[in-house]
Amino acid sequence: MLRLGNCLLLFIFAFGSLSFSQQLEQARRIQSNVLGIDGHNDTAQRVLIEHVDITQRLPDGMLDIPRLREGGVHVPFFALWVPTYYHGSEAVRRTLDLRDAMQSVFDQHPDQIELATSARDIERIVREKKIAAVLTIEGGHQIDNDLAVLRMYRRMGILAMTLTHFRYNDWADSSTSSPMHNGLTDFGKQVVREMNAIGMIVDISHVSDKTFYDAIAVSTKPVIASHSSCRTLSDIPRNMTDDMLRALAKNGGVVGVNFGGAFLNVEDAEELKKAIASSTAEVNLTGAASDAYAAKEQISGPESQIKVGHATVEDAAACVDHIIKVAGIDHVGIGSDFDGIGTVPKGLEDVSKMPNLTAALMKRGYTEADIQKIMGGNFLRVIREVVGQ
Ligand SMILES: [Zn+2]
Repeated sequence: MLRLGNCLLLFIFAFGSLSFSQQLEQARRIQSNVLGIDGHNDTAQRVLIEHVDITQRLPDGMLDIPRLREGGVHVPFFALWVPTYYHGSEAVRRTLDLRDAMQSVFDQHPDQIELATSARDIERIVREKKIAAVLTIEGGHQIDNDLAVLRMYRRMGILAMTLTHFRYNDWADSSTSSPMHNGLTDFGKQVVREMNAIGMIVDISHVSDKTFYDAIAVSTKPVIASHSSCRTLSDIPRNMTDDMLRALAKNGGVVGVNFGGAFLNVEDAEELKKAIASSTAEVNLTGAASDAYAAKEQISGPESQIKVGHATVEDAAACVDHIIKVAGIDHVGIGSDFDGIGTVPKGLEDVSKMPNLTAALMKRGYTEADIQKIMGGNFLRVIREVVGQ
């Protein structure tokens, strides 16, 4: 123990004695050796609505293939997010629109990006120096209360589903709307069991605390919080309490740290609380009118005004550190929420900046083996356990 402790001190001292640019260079070297996984981004919205070409370095936004490569993120989870004002079969239609938009990217650029539907796929695609895209769904309302729809999503290569978004649905409560069901209903529990059976990862970001505990009580497989942070450090309902982190560790799951300023920093949190309050207001639209509203929100809504908040890359490192202290090194990952957050931390403005976080973690004494787990190894383990080889 003593020798190990001395080694760690020596490592911190050695890393700390390097100049900032040397530290960053070392972090970049380590980053280039890891299989980088980011558990959540909202770039699919940009592909569908703005028709952006993610193979080019975009002048705006937070994520594209050149910046993924620069940041050492090889496996981005693209969320097919459908706002909760899409109801019933309309939510299914919108999911298919997003799925189709991402398919166009895969079809047009097979040399650069490929859909990954297993752990082995991920490893092969990354070895071929391409981006391994994982597709997820963000909101249980997108299955329209029909397990057949859920099963077909899985067959379309979608590997995870967040049980709710900002509002409760017919079978699960959300962390940002008043409780309707006291967690998961019987059908909600059936959804979790079905996801276990078909090899789809249960994502508990966005759900209420009670829904979280119900989900892990029912799930026989590890679950993820694809984009949540620490409530002890920033007290917002979207973050996880220490007790939830411990329960997640017991379940074998992983939490991907959300980089949204409010998720990491108390000053930024006050602003998000107001945004959440207004975002739960429902609009009553259907068909083309809801698509037009979604496009307007995407292009000129409050989330489109990106700013650097009070949070910094050090706050993100502190959250990773906290999760490791509470839940252990095997249960933390990255879930940036890039292109879905309005306030970014200084030093983590887009996905190309990921080595800054690696450098901040190394300054805290984390080794290359730790960084491998944090930056993707842990998420890959869950994919292997739940989705399969
Ligand atoms: Zn989200």
